[in-house]
Amino acid sequence: MDAATCAQMRERLLSLRDELIAKGKESIPPARTDAVAQPDEDEAPLTEMTQSIASSRNRERAQKLAAIREALLLIDEDPEEYGMCEDCEEPIKRRRLELMPWVSVCVQCQEKRERDGRVPSSRRNLTDYR
Ligand SMILES: [Zn+2]
Repeated sequence: MDAATCAQMRERLLSLRDELIAKGKESIPPARTDAVAQPDEDEAPLTEMTQSIASSRNRERAQKLAAIREALLLIDEDPEEYGMCEDCEEPIKRRRLELMPWVSVCVQCQEKRERDGRVPSSRRNLTDYR
């Protein structure tokens, strides 16, 4: 990756990182304390669902932050490796890097990883039935 593009991606990564940090963790709603006083059978499952959505978002955020930190480290230490696919060592498409400057694999390898189950994917459930 050339120095100009690296500098540009570095800027993007830094602002993305700051954005994620500034947003902070999504607050997980506490269990309602008035549930005993006003028993509501629908309330408990709903709260549990909200909690699990919030914690999975926090997990995604933590994973993204870790990927951003890794990409920044790579740009600083080994800039010519940045933008190259970790698996097939081909350059990652510029468009993909602009959209997701933290990625370390190309689309094909990302899909392959997901098929192999190396990366949790939203499509995982579908492929389980193949
Ligand atoms: Zn690849």
